Amino acid sequence: MTTLTLTQGDITREHADALVNAANSSLLGGGGVDGAIHRRGGPEILAECRRLRASHYGKGLATGQAVATTAGRLNARWVIHTVGPVFSHEEDRSELLSSCYRESLRVADELGARTIAFPAISTGAYGWPPQDAARVAVEAVRVADTAVGEVRFVLFDDRTYEAFAAQVR
Ligand code: ADP
Repeated sequence: MTTLTLTQGDITREHADALVNAANSSLLGGGGVDGAIHRRGGPEILAECRRLRASHYGKGLATGQAVATTAGRLNARWVIHTVGPVFSHEEDRSELLSSCYRESLRVADELGARTIAFPAISTGAYGWPPQDAARVAVEAVRVADTAVGEVRFVLFDDRTYEAFAAQVR
């Protein structure tokens, strides 16, 4: 049984086995939640991202995929980096967004993580409308076959929080 919980705030303040980062394919950091995770987590996370990039992801981590590193100074054992799709009006990319949640949970299971915190992937710089992103995220977690016991969505702003709350009510 996986419990789904919602909280509003900064994911870098959360305690969980794994914190998910809405990364970009370079794995070399960015703005938004990515910047916050690297700032508070310290240089160890970026150092491991650089090593992963060199050893496995020369062309970058593909959209919808996920990979774990140390969590540095964050209150977690791992950061799971996943690359959300950029929102498109022309093309339905919701399967890729769904894949971010599914693949992150798969990596969490491989690691033995029992609690995981997700931000609202793709709803910032990548432009996904919060209500639709919430629908995809909640559905992906609900149907996932995972040993993770608690999935927590950590939503930064009121609008995104309300969009997720409407899905889990
Ligand atoms: P993406 O490029 O996948 O859209 P962003 O980091 O730009 O990623 O935004 C994803 C979501 O994370 C947005 O809803 C944004 O408001 C939110 N966000 C930004 N900083 C934080 C943080 N420190 N903790 C949790 N969520 C955050």
